[in-house]
Amino acid sequence: MAARHQGTLDRPNPLPREVAPGIFWLGECLEQSQQGKIYHGCNASFLIVGETASMLVETGHPKDFPITEGQLNKLLPGKPPLKYLFVTHQETPHCGGLGRVLTRFPDAILVGDVSDYHLAFPQHEHRMRMMKESDEIDLGGRSFRAVEPVVRDMRTTWWGFETRDRVLFPGDGFAYSHYHEDHHCGLVAEEATSLDLQDTTAVFADLALWWTKWADMRNYCARLDQLMDRLQVKTVCPTHGLVITDVARTMPKVKEGLLYGSNVAERGTNEGKFKASDLVA
Ligand SMILES: [Zn+2]
Ligand SMILES: [Zn+2]
Repeated sequence: MAARHQGTLDRPNPLPREVAPGIFWLGECLEQSQQGKIYHGCNASFLIVGETASMLVETGHPKDFPITEGQLNKLLPGKPPLKYLFVTHQETPHCGGLGRVLTRFPDAILVGDVSDYHLAFPQHEHRMRMMKESDEIDLGGRSFRAVEPVVRDMRTTWWGFETRDRVLFPGDGFAYSHYHEDHHCGLVAEEATSLDLQDTTAVFADLALWWTKWADMRNYCARLDQLMDRLQVKTVCPTHGLVITDVARTMPKVKEGLLYGSNVAERGTNEGKFKASDLVA
């Protein structure tokens, strides 16, 4: 029997969801079993639709690619073609569908810090363009800019920022789980009223962002405040957290979560409640 959950497509709040004008939240949840509880993490990707070009930010987890591809195929007809793929960094939940995106969308090019991808995909090397901080890509009426990656775990990370509606794409920043049982899947952070950002940020610190346990996260919170102020961010589209649509209301809780997650001792690793064989649908 398959233990793998059925996907947000069958949930009360299905993805894709438009979270800002012309910006769509795609993807699927990943089950995390810890402390006897079932948590969900997002491995999101986002479609930005401009007047002349569309861009995909992140590819989602490899296991979810058929779902993400289906969502793209539903959204893209009648819209400007997918010309750009931006990935924040070279970890699997962020770029694991890269080869398949470049194959399915032959007019698209890969942008960001593109170090090393040509080693895995030499056939696509001519379709890779390096971006550095402040570089912008024009999508028609809106642009996408590479910005400082305040919270990162790879040297090659960039965050992204959409200039017209002021949307931040922070990759591993704003990483926190959510509660499937409380129907949080597909909700924005402000709608998920029972979400405890301290608890769920600590889960991510345990499972993925271990370096935050040994860093003084007050420095990172201050840096995050500076970035948010400088860019006047209105919406945050994290890869692993729920989308944030009210920055003033939710940012204090995110910072409390980062500080709590770094201050508590490790609370255990993923318990592996399900055997690998259970995960095969
Ligand atoms: Zn990540
Ligand atoms: Zn979920």
